[in-house]
Amino acid sequence: MIHFKATREEWRDYNWQIRNRIKTAQQLRKYIKLLPEEERGIKKTEGLYPLAITPYYLSLMNPENVNDPIRLQAIPREVEVDESVQRFGEPDALREEGEIPGLTHRYPDRVLMSVTTFCAVYCRHCMRKRIFAEGERAKSLQEIDRMIDYIKAHEEVRDVLISGGEPLSLSNEKIDYILKRLREIKHVEIIRFGTRLPVLAPQRFFDEELMDILERHSPIWINTHFNHRNEITELSEEAVDKILRRGIPVNNQTVLLKGVNDSGEEMLKLNRELLRIKVKPQYLFHCDPIKGAVHFRTSLDRGMEIMEYLRGKISGMGIPTYAVDLPGGKGKVPISPDYIVSREGDRFTFRSYDGSFVVYEVNSPINFPEPS
Ligand SMILES: *Cc1c(COP(=O)(O)O)cnc(C)c1O
Repeated sequence: MIHFKATREEWRDYNWQIRNRIKTAQQLRKYIKLLPEEERGIKKTEGLYPLAITPYYLSLMNPENVNDPIRLQAIPREVEVDESVQRFGEPDALREEGEIPGLTHRYPDRVLMSVTTFCAVYCRHCMRKRIFAEGERAKSLQEIDRMIDYIKAHEEVRDVLISGGEPLSLSNEKIDYILKRLREIKHVEIIRFGTRLPVLAPQRFFDEELMDILERHSPIWINTHFNHRNEITELSEEAVDKILRRGIPVNNQTVLLKGVNDSGEEMLKLNRELLRIKVKPQYLFHCDPIKGAVHFRTSLDRGMEIMEYLRGKISGMGIPTYAVDLPGGKGKVPISPDYIVSREGDRFTFRSYDGSFVVYEVNSPINFPEPS
C-alpha cells in the first residue's frame, strides 16, 4: 500500500481523485522506485499511450513488488513501444470504427456507443489504446445526438452499451441527457454502462445525484472490469453496494492478462471475492491482438486450464464465460474445456470436475408426439 497526504473527505471525493491523478515520471517517483524499463516506457509512450493513475488506484500497489498486478496494469513499460510488440496486432483489431464516429453496430440487437476518450487510468492492456492519442475529450452533444438518431432509426436495436473511454466521467447533466434521449426510444430495452470506475475511482458512485439519475432511468446495468483480487477494497465494495441498492446489477468482465491473473489460483481468488461483493463474473476475455498490448496475451490452452481449475471449486455463479472476440468484428465466441469425452449413439461419456468418467444416456428414451 502506498500512502497519500489527503483528508478523509478528499480521499472519498471523485473530483479530488481525478484532479490529483499522477501523470508524469517525476510525480510517480515520489511514491515508487521506477524500474529503468518503466522510466524509458513513460518517456517513449508520451502522447501515444499516455500515463494517468488516480491516487486511489496507485495506493493499491505494493511498491516493493516490481511485478505487482496493479503496477503492470497502470505503469507504462518500454515493451509497449518496442518493435517486438509493435509489429503484432492492429490498433482496431475488432473493427469497431464505422460510419458514425463512436458507434459500433456489430450484433443486430446491440450497439456500442463510445462517448469519450477520457479515462481515470490508462490501462496498459486497453483494447481501445488507439484512442489514447486523441487526448481527453468527451463527445459533443451533436456527436452524441448523431449516435442516438441512428439508434432511433434502427428498430432492431434493443440493447445499448455505453462505453468510452470512461462513460461515467461525463458530467451528470450529459449522462442524464443521454439516458433521457435513449429512454424516449421505444425499442431500446436495456442500457448498459461499460465502466471501470468501480475499480479505478469508486468514489464516483458516492455522488447521490449521479445515483438518482441512474435509478431514474431504470433498467440500467453496469459492466465493470476487475482483473485482480487486490482491486477489491472497502471502497470498491462500498461503491458496488451503492450501485446494487439502486437496482442496478453489476457484472464483471475480466481480461486474461499474462503476469496479472493468468493462473487458476489467482482467478479463483478474484471470482470468490467478486461473488462475496455480489458482482457476477460474466466474461473472462482472451486478450485481443491490440497493437501495443500483445505482450499481455497468453495461450488459449492456459485460459482453458484456468476454466478447468475453477470448475468444482466455486459456485457456478462465480464461473465466467471464457470468450474470444473474433478479429474483424466477427463477434464473441464462448470457449469451454470439453466435458464430453466420447459418444456411442445416445450413450455419452462425460468427464466430471473431480476427474471421474461417467457414462450417461442423456437423450429422452421415448418419442412423445409433438403437442398439437
Ligand atoms: C461485446 C460487444 C457487445 C456486447 O456483447 P455481450 O455479449 O452482449 O456482452 C456489443 N457490441 C459490441 C461491438 C461488442 O464488442
